[in-house]
Amino acid sequence: MWDALKCDLCGDCLVKCRYVDYDKDRAASEMKLLMEGKAADILDHCITCNACFQYCPTGADPANLICRMQEKMGSPITVGFKPVINSVVKTFEQGSRDIQVIEGDPDKPALSFDSFTFAQFPAGTLESRMFKGMTVVRGRKYASLVGMAHMGGESLAEKYGRRVIDSLAELGKEIVYMHNEGYILAHIKARELGIEVPYKYLHLFEYLLDYFKENQRDIKKLKKMVAYQPNCAVRWFPEQDIWLNEIFELIGVERVSRTYEGVNALCCGGPALFVNNELSMGIQKNNIRDAMDNHAEAMITICPMCDTVLRDQTAKAGLPQIFITDLCRMALGEVSWPVR
Ligand code: SF4
Ligand code: SF4
Repeated sequence: MWDALKCDLCGDCLVKCRYVDYDKDRAASEMKLLMEGKAADILDHCITCNACFQYCPTGADPANLICRMQEKMGSPITVGFKPVINSVVKTFEQGSRDIQVIEGDPDKPALSFDSFTFAQFPAGTLESRMFKGMTVVRGRKYASLVGMAHMGGESLAEKYGRRVIDSLAELGKEIVYMHNEGYILAHIKARELGIEVPYKYLHLFEYLLDYFKENQRDIKKLKKMVAYQPNCAVRWFPEQDIWLNEIFELIGVERVSRTYEGVNALCCGGPALFVNNELSMGIQKNNIRDAMDNHAEAMITICPMCDTVLRDQTAKAGLPQIFITDLCRMALGEVSWPVR
């Protein structure tokens, strides 16, 4: 969450931003305008990749300030996604029947798909032995809301986050978050917003890691080299990489070392599609070329949005794209490695 007291107007955040070309003075003056609640050029160019959260040396969270100001000023991203945001607000104000709950065994945790549809995840995901017997929920009332910041809806987590946490608490179960943003709402945003989270929760990676540790004899090592496409929420919690690397090691997958990795990772290009299609395509092509130049045999995604956005370009380039749960299913022999 933006903390003005931590900002010394050094300008590092916007000097390092890949999507503008500001020198230190320009970057500092842009930040000053935003801090004064005024319009600034960056609001039209920021694709909400969240990278400046990590670029800032003082932890001031400039990405959050920019997203707030995009919402306030009606930036191109905000205008492009207005119908989505209006529909989410309507859900919380007037209710929604877009809810699915599949009851599971009483002693097993619940798997939350946030507001994604099941079809946005690979076919057969719920048939996997990894998730057998779990209660499964999805729908608007379980929406993480954190991702709405990419669409000009930064304020929604504050407005409705407590209701989402309450809806999950009503299940009376431990929650496993399939999507990063759901986990971030419980693990980071709730604390920032003073919302109590009255249940235990796990990130999908934590759950998968525990599963593989307990079922090591069922693993068929994949012996593949892969590139990894993090989603923007990883910036808030880069430590999740440790869990992912342990999963990769257990299932015999090597993560290639490449240019667009860690702090230098590229956004999938999704939000940019609404403000600058050419820019978005350029981001995707660079990302895929970098993966292939470094001998990746597949691109691993962890977010249904990144997965949808990148699919055409990885297919055109001939780079298989695999969602993390499907990669894990491959290591269990439930599905086959894709044929190029
Ligand atoms: S969120 Fe990304 S695009 Fe926006 S200013 Fe920060 S680094 Fe640049
Ligand atoms: S938000 Fe951080 S990086 Fe940006 S100007 Fe302020 S202190 Fe510097």
